[in-house]
Amino acid sequence: MVEVISVNIGFSILYLVRENNKYLLIDSGRPVSSRKLSKKLKKKKINPADISLIIVTHVHYDHVGNLKWLKEQSKAPVMVHIDEAGILERGEAPIPEGTTFLSKIISYLGKIVNPCSKYYPVKADILINEVCSLNDFGFTAAVIPTPGHTGGSISVIFGTGETFVGDTCFNLYWGKTVFPMFANDVPRLMRSWQTLIDSEARIFYPGHGKPFLKETLKSSLEVVNK
Ligand SMILES: [Zn+2]
Ligand SMILES: [Zn+2]
Repeated sequence: MVEVISVNIGFSILYLVRENNKYLLIDSGRPVSSRKLSKKLKKKKINPADISLIIVTHVHYDHVGNLKWLKEQSKAPVMVHIDEAGILERGEAPIPEGTTFLSKIISYLGKIVNPCSKYYPVKADILINEVCSLNDFGFTAAVIPTPGHTGGSISVIFGTGETFVGDTCFNLYWGKTVFPMFANDVPRLMRSWQTLIDSEARIFYPGHGKPFLKETLKSSLEVVNK
């Protein structure tokens, strides 16, 4: 059994998955002060030293904002898709394209205020470009490429069905569907949704919004494909 602990630092969520007394950290949230973050972790009874692996679902500033600090505290290796390692190492903060009227405006504004999206660059330790088992790290999980939101987006699927998708799915609407909202390549994203539907994934934990079940993703794909 795995235990999922979500730490919401306002706007973005980072996830800690506990298995056999080890933590896998997925994403690091938007940049906040180390004081605020350590307080949040303490409240959830998490010692960063117990984190044994860090996975970055994709390199956007709201997912790598505290990566440097968390890497230093945990001394854990950082895994990222090979296509985004350079962006992370240079500390660049690309803004994705919007796919709806509202998200197009947000994307446009984001590009104007891009200099505000600063984070400390990090050199990743493990670069992947295909399905990768996490068994050697002590987790019954695998990482799969799920491109579309960005070219190097990845998801983490645990054997028990808990699946961490970063921004491959946003769950920010009140209805019963999730929408792409932001994606550089929507057709590619839809193929990634299909991959997730066909996988062992059971419950999805997005980078923004509440967890949702596979049924929701299935019906959302039908709505988007209409
Ligand atoms: Zn995000
Ligand atoms: Zn993103």
